[in-house]
Amino acid sequence: MTALPSQGLLTISPAAVVDNWRLFSGLGTAEAAAVVKADAYGLGADPIATALVQAGCRTFFVATLTEGLALRRLLPQPEIFVLNGPMAGEESCYADHRLIPVLNSPQQVILWQAMAGLPAALHLDTGMTRLGLDEADCSLVYGLNLRLVMSHLACADDPDHPANRRQLERFRTLTTAFPGVPRSLSASGGSLLGAEYHFDLLRPGIGLYGGNPIPSRPNPSRAVVRLTVPILQVRTVGSGVAIGYGEAGRTTTPTRILTLAAGYADGLLRRLGNRGAVVYEGVVLPIIGRISMDLITVDAQALGKRPVNVGDRVELLGDQLEIDAMADAAETISYELLTRLGTRYQRVYA
Ligand SMILES: *Cc1c(COP(=O)(O)O)cnc(C)c1O
Repeated sequence: MTALPSQGLLTISPAAVVDNWRLFSGLGTAEAAAVVKADAYGLGADPIATALVQAGCRTFFVATLTEGLALRRLLPQPEIFVLNGPMAGEESCYADHRLIPVLNSPQQVILWQAMAGLPAALHLDTGMTRLGLDEADCSLVYGLNLRLVMSHLACADDPDHPANRRQLERFRTLTTAFPGVPRSLSASGGSLLGAEYHFDLLRPGIGLYGGNPIPSRPNPSRAVVRLTVPILQVRTVGSGVAIGYGEAGRTTTPTRILTLAAGYADGLLRRLGNRGAVVYEGVVLPIIGRISMDLITVDAQALGKRPVNVGDRVELLGDQLEIDAMADAAETISYELLTRLGTRYQRVYA
C-alpha cells in the first residue's frame, strides 16, 4: 500500500533494524537484546520485533506492562522484561503472560518475594538516581529467582564522562552480591564504550533505529526511516514577504515558497521553525517561518528556475537528512523525534 497523493509517507525498514541489531550482537560475546519500548521508539513494535525474532533475537525489553502484554500476544517465545516493574495487583498478569518484571525498588522486591519463585530482574542504582536499589536496599534481596541483574548508565553518550567508569566500578562491586546471575549494564551508548561495559547482555534501543548513540563519533547504525511529504502549493513571492504565523518568516529575495503537508502534529517539532531543512531532488531547502499543526513552508530559492510541482514529494528524513541532524536542529535528541512521529503518515514496512 502506498500513500494517498496528499499524504506523508513514512517508510520503515525492519531489515535495517536487523542489520543494526547484528552490529550489537557482533560487538563481542555478550547477547544483544532489543529494547522495543514506546512501540519500538514510535516505529512499530509488531513488525520490528517480528523481524528481530526471525533474525535470532531472544530477549526484549519494554517499559510498561501494557507493552509487554501486546508483545507477548505477538510473540510466544522470547523473554520479555518490563522495565518499569510491577505494582500491587499486577502480579498475576506477569505470571499468566510469562512477563519478567524488573524490580526497581524495595517495594517491588517485597511484592515479588511473595510470588513463589517467579522470575525477575533486579535493577541496581549505580549513580543515576532514577530507578534501582541502592547498596543498603540490597540486603533486603533474598528468596528471588533472579534472571538478570542490571543497571543503566547516565552519560554513555559522552565517552569521556567520568560517570561512566564510576558507574562501571559501582556495578562490579554491587553485583558481587549476586554471583552466577547474568549481568547487563549497557544500552546502545554503553555497548560502544568497549568490552568491559558489555557483561552478559546488551540492551540497545536507539542504535537499532538509526540514531547515533555517541554523537561525537560517526554513526555506526544504518538509517531506518525515510519520510517524504507532498507539496500542497507552490507560491512565487517577492522580497520582504511575511511567511506564516506571527509573520515569523520573511523572504529576503524574490523566491518560491513550497507549502508541505505535515506539521507539528506529525512530529515536526515546532522548534524547527526557521531552523530545519528538507531535501527536494537532492537540493537542501530551508524551512522558513513557523511550523504549523499540519503545514510547513520552505524557501525554494536554492532550486533556481527548476520546475517544482504540486504533489511532488520532499524528503524530511532519509539518507541525506539523518534523524540526529533534524533532532539537533530542533534542539532535542533522536529519541524524542522518533517517538513523536504522528499517526497520520501512511506507514510502509519495506
Ligand atoms: C531505554 C532504555 C534502554 C535503551 O536505551 P538506548 O539509549 O535507546 O539504547 C536500555 N535500558 C534501559 C533501562 C532503558 O530505559
